[in-house]
Amino acid sequence: MAASSFFNRVSKALNSSPSSYKLVLLCTLTLSGGGVVAYSESQSEPHRKKKVVVLGTGWAATSFLKDLDVSIYDVQVVSPRNYFAFTPLLPSVTCGTVEARSIVEPVRNIIKKRKGEIKFWEAECVKIDAANKKVSCRSNIDNLVGSGEFSLDYDLLVVAVGAQVNTFNTPGVKENCHFLKDVEDAQKIRLSVIDCFEKAVLPSQSEEDQRSNLHFVVVGGGPTGVEFAAELHDYVQEDLIQLYPTVKDLVKITLIQSGDHILNMFDERISSFAEKKFTRDGIEVQTGCRVVNVNDKEITMKVKSTGEVCSVPHGLIVWSTGISTIPVIRDFMEEIGQTKRHVLATDEWLRVKGCEAVYAVGDCSTIVQRKIMDDVLAIFETADKDNSGTLTVEEFQDVMDDILLRYPQVEHYLKKQHIYDFTMLWKDSQGNERKEIDIEGFKLALSQADSQMKTLPATAQVAAQQGTYLARCFNSMDHCEQHPEGPRRFTGSGHHRFLPFRYKHFGQFAPLGGEQAAAELPGDWVSIGHSTQWLWYSVYASKQVSWRTRYLVVSDWARRFVFGRDSSRV
Ligand code: FAD
Ligand code: MG
Repeated sequence: MAASSFFNRVSKALNSSPSSYKLVLLCTLTLSGGGVVAYSESQSEPHRKKKVVVLGTGWAATSFLKDLDVSIYDVQVVSPRNYFAFTPLLPSVTCGTVEARSIVEPVRNIIKKRKGEIKFWEAECVKIDAANKKVSCRSNIDNLVGSGEFSLDYDLLVVAVGAQVNTFNTPGVKENCHFLKDVEDAQKIRLSVIDCFEKAVLPSQSEEDQRSNLHFVVVGGGPTGVEFAAELHDYVQEDLIQLYPTVKDLVKITLIQSGDHILNMFDERISSFAEKKFTRDGIEVQTGCRVVNVNDKEITMKVKSTGEVCSVPHGLIVWSTGISTIPVIRDFMEEIGQTKRHVLATDEWLRVKGCEAVYAVGDCSTIVQRKIMDDVLAIFETADKDNSGTLTVEEFQDVMDDILLRYPQVEHYLKKQHIYDFTMLWKDSQGNERKEIDIEGFKLALSQADSQMKTLPATAQVAAQQGTYLARCFNSMDHCEQHPEGPRRFTGSGHHRFLPFRYKHFGQFAPLGGEQAAAELPGDWVSIGHSTQWLWYSVYASKQVSWRTRYLVVSDWARRFVFGRDSSRV
């Protein structure tokens, strides 16, 4: 088979999802006359709309709500935050480059735009009772008259509660470090940075005190830690040293990373550019160090290679070392028997494993991909229609689209091996092409594919795509019951209802300060420098959830260019 025709088949199979969803949605709307009321089989009484409860108002939940057909469902949203926050701009909020209110959109603005009624409750879910299809919630509003506790029944539950900062149980971190997870965190950091400068210039301060107060420590060399260090450096150099000239030589920023390089999830060129730039800028990068203790005055770390332990005084620490599961999800995992896992597991359809009618999207969950080697026998049996014990190329071709849809690792593997024609898998150990393949040959051909299974990163991009995917599945749920469109079930009969979730990577940015940024773009492209920073501005402006926040963010950037950042402690 020609290379192009094989990849046409692959891309056809993969691209079939959006158009078929559109078709399904169109059919649903046409059949119901664009209608709102759904009728039961008897056609006499309107049947009850299914109750959908959504937990969270972050990236995953809002993209779900934006695309959900609210005329089909009775939707209730529960979150302790009555707004959506554009988290990629949180580091800019810590230094006043962008104001906090510019990156948030009230949830009620978002739901107002949907034609059906979505109910929103500002409360925290404290328990998911999957056995009784119920969630218990509690309001976080202080001085509430009456009870703030209530419970909601659901038919379908969408869990999108995000994650919390991982402290790795390091003593003193919770009490003495700032986190950068939420808008409140960013606002607190902004005030604390100014506090450090105001403290340092008090007449009572010795030089040693001043140096301690102006030592800013960032723990974690991932994108958030690096971006915050870069923002802080710009803030100090462009604004604060003019305002606090007496202490300008005493400011120090240290970035501590336990791995050997910062930004190690990026291309090597980006991480080495970032390290060199930081060294030039005077940001001290300490790699291979693990923080072992923190108190209000000092941070103690251990150099991994030598075992040497040292303590340094600090004025402010920002802890940004990754995420862990929040308590309500941990309790839920225990309830449904996912005790051995660190993160809530779903299948490729985003259904929580071991639990009916519960879906999980975003940072709170991870997709556990199915191994093709677990199903290899069943696939072979399905493909071998004539029960000859061998497969011809035609027989294999027949199940190939399903394999590519069901096991994305096969596509990654073929691409990695530069295999554009899958009959190349047919070659025996001498490199000769075979006409037919038996089960052992079939196993051998696919045996390496599972090594290409990937866990998706905890990013807004993944969360938003999962939310959109799930909304489309919900919108076409009834249709797909009767006309399944997913791949063949090799271990059972029939087809899966929907196509499984597929993540599409659109690239990743790392702003490095001084109007420079690095980006990894689709197709393994790497771009670094001032032009990439302008690309960053345009992408982040375009990705805003509303015209209001887009206007506010762009005008904040313009204000900063003209007047600098505001250092008032308000
Ligand atoms: P979140 O967006 O965190 O939303 C969780 C929601 O659940 C919130 O509304 C919260 O209030 C609510 N909630 C919490 N507990 C409960 C409860 N018990 N009951 C009900 N609701 C609850 N990703 C990128 O792709 N690009 C970036 O540049 C980028 N930059 C980032 C910078 C920073 C500083 C941070 C912190 C993250 C960044 N991310 C970025 C990651 C991105 O923000 C997350 O991956 C994304 O927010 C995950 O979306 P989510 O919907 O799962 O969770
Ligand atoms: Mg056969």
